[in-house]
Amino acid sequence: MISVDAARCCYCGACVSVCPVGALDLQETRLAVSEECMECGLCLPACPMGALRATEAQVRPLPTIRDSCDVVVVGAGPGGAVAAWEAAAHGLSVLLLEKRQEIGSPVRCAEGIGHDALLPFIEPDPAWISARISSARIITVHDGRERVWQAQGRGERQVGYVLERRVFDRVLAEKAALAGARVQVKTAALGLLREGQRVVGVVAEGPWGRREIAARVVIGADGIESRVGRWAGLETTLPQQDQMTCAQFLLAGIDVAPHCTCYYLDPVLAPGGYAWVFPKGGQRANVGLGVQAGLSASAPVELLTRFIESHAFLSQGNPVTLIAGGVPVAMPPARLVTDGCLLVGDAARQVDPLTGGGIGNAMAAGRLAGRVAASAIAAGDVSAVALSRYEHEWAAGIGRQMARNFRLRARFPPAERCSERFLSVFAMAVGGSK
Ligand code: FAD
Repeated sequence: MISVDAARCCYCGACVSVCPVGALDLQETRLAVSEECMECGLCLPACPMGALRATEAQVRPLPTIRDSCDVVVVGAGPGGAVAAWEAAAHGLSVLLLEKRQEIGSPVRCAEGIGHDALLPFIEPDPAWISARISSARIITVHDGRERVWQAQGRGERQVGYVLERRVFDRVLAEKAALAGARVQVKTAALGLLREGQRVVGVVAEGPWGRREIAARVVIGADGIESRVGRWAGLETTLPQQDQMTCAQFLLAGIDVAPHCTCYYLDPVLAPGGYAWVFPKGGQRANVGLGVQAGLSASAPVELLTRFIESHAFLSQGNPVTLIAGGVPVAMPPARLVTDGCLLVGDAARQVDPLTGGGIGNAMAAGRLAGRVAASAIAAGDVSAVALSRYEHEWAAGIGRQMARNFRLRARFPPAERCSERFLSVFAMAVGGSK
């Protein structure tokens, strides 16, 4: 039977059309080969990536290439891209690794961001903005009855955007490249290089083989699924109650207010979380729902379907994209650094515990991590003590706000999150006031 090299396969489907017995099937993220395969080999030259092999062919292990740079960043989300951009802007040699073949895709986000979280990094550009937001509505649901609260803005603070993250994330990586970083897609970090307890690089694998890349500093920006922290000996396990589990449809053909985000606080349908409707322009919206993990017997996608069916203006829409994802709503782990390594963004659990917003925090953390890494390298000391400046500055800035929101979240048990008192807290967190 033909075998598929997953590190190379880009799921393009070119091989499927030439197979005479229909033995190849392009599943969403996997190319499957069925028993009907005759091993005729016609598919082999059709593959642009050289990912198919006849079983009897000797698998020639690709040589391990050795490489080195000042900083390796694992993960090209907003946190990793900004970290790479900042470190490169300080004149360091930087390698930004992304395991997916397309930066920013698939999206795992409702794509909302406040104006003042975005502006320190990049000027808003219609190329990656789907909608401009000028107001927010919070709907509390109690015993099935809805009450609508219009959150009052605080001038520019309330203005925000719904992004097109497929483009936005890539633009940030392009900024890193323009600053001098090397960007490598479809290349996954598989582990860390260590000298004793010190992190001295990464092992990475992509279509071009396996590489050992020595680095003075490794920045783990590898998202909710982060493994860099664990590999480095940092405790990043999330308690179940500190994770929101979410599902979202991009609904097309619906009648939504084009500049208003809506949050539904419904302890029955979204226990410990909320449902949202974020306009995306052109009669489309990201319609999603997040639940505190473990609080509902039904999966979020089922609750979301119920939420949509119970609102006429949504049920007329057509789901053109389904996404699923987890959001850490925890306090960041006690340690975010170790010798030669720092964590940023979702990997460091730096998401707002009340709203689940993490794009702005990831970019802020990325910039701080890039800057601290640069000064540690310049001083010739990348020990945990030197890098702990990152932890202190984070804790004194956004970390303080996160700690406050974590305490507020703990003060209001899930059943009380449709109360008026919680409403004031939530309205403040989404950038307005009740
Ligand atoms: P990510 O954006 O997750 O990027 C991590 C990257 O690392 C990924 O590209 C991944 O492929 C890559 N990677 C992982 N492992 C490896 C490896 N071993 N080697 C190489 N690459 C690797 N936040 C908001 O601010 N606003 C919202 O409206 C919002 N809505 C959300 C809705 C949902 C349903 C979800 C799930 C999240 C939402 N968030 C929102 C949170 C937001 O998406 C994240 O906080 C943000 O993306 C964090 O950025 P990051 O760079 O830390 O991680």
